[in-house]
Formats: sequence, structure tokens, C-alpha cells
Amino acid sequence: MLDLLVRGGEVVTPGGVGRWDVAVQGEKIVAVGPLGDLAREAGRIIDATGKIVIPGGVEPHTHLAHLITMQPDEPTLTLGPEEDTRGMVFGGTTTHVDFAYVRPGTTIAQALEQRSARWKGNSYNDYAFHVTLQGELPIPLFDQMQDAISEGFPTFKVFTVDVLPPHPKRHGYKLDFGRIQLAMEKTARHGGLMVVHAEDHDIVQFMYQKLREEKQTEGWKLPLVHNKLSESLAFRRAIGVAKHTGAAIYFVHTSAQEGVEAVAEARANGLPIYAETLHHYASFTQEDYKTPRGFCYHTYPSLKGPEDREALWGGLLHGAVSTSATDEYPTTLELKLRGQNLENVTGGNLGAEARVGIMFTEGVAKRGMSLERFVDVTSTNAAKILGLYPRKGALLPGSDADIVLIDPSIKRKLTMADFHVSDYSPWENWPIAGWPVTTILRGKVVVENGKLLGSTSDGKLQHRKIGSEILGRPRA
Ligand SMILES: [Zn+2]
Repeated sequence: MLDLLVRGGEVVTPGGVGRWDVAVQGEKIVAVGPLGDLAREAGRIIDATGKIVIPGGVEPHTHLAHLITMQPDEPTLTLGPEEDTRGMVFGGTTTHVDFAYVRPGTTIAQALEQRSARWKGNSYNDYAFHVTLQGELPIPLFDQMQDAISEGFPTFKVFTVDVLPPHPKRHGYKLDFGRIQLAMEKTARHGGLMVVHAEDHDIVQFMYQKLREEKQTEGWKLPLVHNKLSESLAFRRAIGVAKHTGAAIYFVHTSAQEGVEAVAEARANGLPIYAETLHHYASFTQEDYKTPRGFCYHTYPSLKGPEDREALWGGLLHGAVSTSATDEYPTTLELKLRGQNLENVTGGNLGAEARVGIMFTEGVAKRGMSLERFVDVTSTNAAKILGLYPRKGALLPGSDADIVLIDPSIKRKLTMADFHVSDYSPWENWPIAGWPVTTILRGKVVVENGKLLGSTSDGKLQHRKIGSEILGRPRA
């Protein structure tokens, strides 16, 4: 006897798209196909006629319950998982990956334990953590990476840059390239993957200083600091170290044409290099900073020009960009707009709730993206690259029953009634063609007909293992 049958939708699977049924028993998918006969034995049937049925979204990049460092004299935290993941399940995202921060004085195990405890019982969807390595970490600490990988935490985030200027109350972000090389040697040897925020430290810090001296401190000049040359240099330097060590890289928030080109070139040479971009970067440009709520669209590195936006879409449509993420950093509108100058604009985005729906509108409805590619860039590729596949990221027998129904007939502008996290959304008034309407997490219907049926005890920590094919060649 089946627990649930999702019947008659346009189902997107790794083997193609068809008018099929998805059968669920307990937390797992047990069959996908024309299953008409099974309907008689299903405990519950969801009629998906006219809907598109996809695997639950995988959000690879969030900063929840995270220290906001742009204004170090008034430290506060971003909203936590109990608030932000409510939006994610409404928006069709069933798994998110946040970060555990390792700075001098902490071990990797302590950082993971502390973040796992913060999330336990507080997330509406499933979750995992990248390990972030920051500052002048003692060299022996890198020996802990092997254990973290074997315990299911195989991804390590590094910054090649201090994103903000130095401040006595602000910890550094950057890991030096010597330690980055060491981390890459460890991931290459033990089955891990490097997650890299790549900007050129010298260029970024020099530009902060130069513009400060010239008194050009308006926030909309951020693209002069976090600029295209910086992305180009840093992507290529990191790829050089990866090639030397045999490591695989996942570049977060690719923002410029130069980043897309560097990744495309490396992939053409067979290197396991992957790029993420953000739906914000693919939808807005630096001109939007000058609008009244323009910093709502900002994260680091900055928005760029229209040619960069087109290059990101080229990558999303044709392969050089593997995933869409948010760099989620949920705050109130007041907090997001608190800083207005170059050195204190609040970074990070609010938009994990909108990610799947915006990618459907902008990709499938507006740019002719195939449904398979749409699922790749919102779910499957992140699951593969980060080691969640095929438990997550696919509608296959044996996969977790994380299932989302999109209604492609919804055509209107978004309003605040569509959002469930903060007092604003950067996506208010954005015209959509299709939106997620039903979300199922491991067999449990958590959102249906605009109602939240899930709870913060639903989300579970996901241990991960990355397939060797992902680490050897560009395979997502
Ligand atoms: Zn981030």
C-alpha cells in the first residue's frame, strides 16, 4: 500500500520529462511512471494535472543566524533557520546548505557541533553545513579535514579576500593562498571539494583605500571595488592552484562575464570546476543600486553590468554555470538599508524563498530553458556537486520524496503576501509566469494551498559524500 501518489503531472526526471505519476512510501519515492493502477492502493492522491513536478530545490548557499559584520559597532545576527526556512518550503526548497565557521581557537568538530545544535529542531527543511576556514589557522588544524570529510562534511569554504576594509572589531575573512593550497591538497586526497569566494584581495583593499581618499564613498560605487578584474584574477589564480593540487572547486556567487569565462575555459580543459550564480545577479545590474531600495539587491561581490548578466544567463542555459543560489542573509528592510556608503552597505540577499520560482519565470518562461536544465540549476547539480545526490536532487525510486509542484498558469506580479520571512522582499512587483504551490519533504506535505503544514522539527541534518566522477571531471 502506497502512502502517497502524485498523479498526472509533467514529471521531470533524470531520464526525461513525461506525464507520469510519482509513488511515495514513507520518506522515499518508490516508483515513477505511468502508475494508474496503483492509484487504487494509495493512502492519499494529489492531483498534479496541469502542474510541473520537480525534485525539491537545493539551496547551496545560506547565512542564517549569522553575525552581520558590515557595522561592527552594532553587531547583530541575520534571521535564523526557524524564520528563513519557512520561506524556503513555501518557495519549493527542501534542502539548504549553511556554514560552520572555523577561526583560530576553534576546531572543525566544535564548529560543526555548535551549528548543528543551533539548527536541530529549528528548520522546516533539511540542512547541511559547509566548513568555512578563516584567518591564520594553525597548520595542524588542516589534518582535521579528513575526519570531517569521512563524517559527511566534505565541502570547505574559503575566501581569497577580506571582503570589507580592516576594522578593530571585525575578524578577517581571508585565508592566505598557502593555506588554500594546503586545504586543496587535503580535499584532493580525501574526497572533498573546495567552495571558493574568489576576489583579488589586493585590488579590493586598494580600491577601498583609493576611493576613501578621493571621498568617493557612495554605496553605488561598490562595483569599482568588487570589480571585474578582481574576479578574473582570483578565479584564475584559484583554478591554477586547483590544477596543481588536483582539487575540485565550486565558485560561489559568480558575478561577472570574466568569472564565467574562466570557469568555461577550465571545464573545457577537463578540470572539475563548477560555478554558482545568484538569481539576483541574473536579474539586476549595478544601475539598480541607484534606485530607492537599490541596496536590497546587493551582496559581495557587487552587481555588475548588463553584459555580465547576459554572460551569467549564457552559463545557466548552456552549462558553464551549474547552480543558482541566493547567498541568503535574511534581515529586516531597515537593517538591509542601514548602511549607504561603500564600507557599510549590508551584504547578502533575501530571496531563497523566491529562487525556484524566479528561475522558472526567468529561465523556462522567458528564455526557453528546458525543464531538465531548470531542475539541474535549481536542484540536481547542487545535490551532485555537494554530495547529496541521488538522495536529493532527483525524482528516482530510492530518492527522498522531496517533491515540488509548480503551477505554470500563475501569471501576475509578486506581492508581500507571497513571502513569509521578513518585512520586505527584493522580488515585490516582479512579474512571474509560474510559481511553486505544493512542497513535500521526505513524504510529508509541508506546504499546500498557501498553507504551512510543516514544522521546525521536520528538517534533518544531511550527511554528504561526493561522487568520484564529480571530483575528477566537470560532471554537473
Ligand atoms: Zn555567502
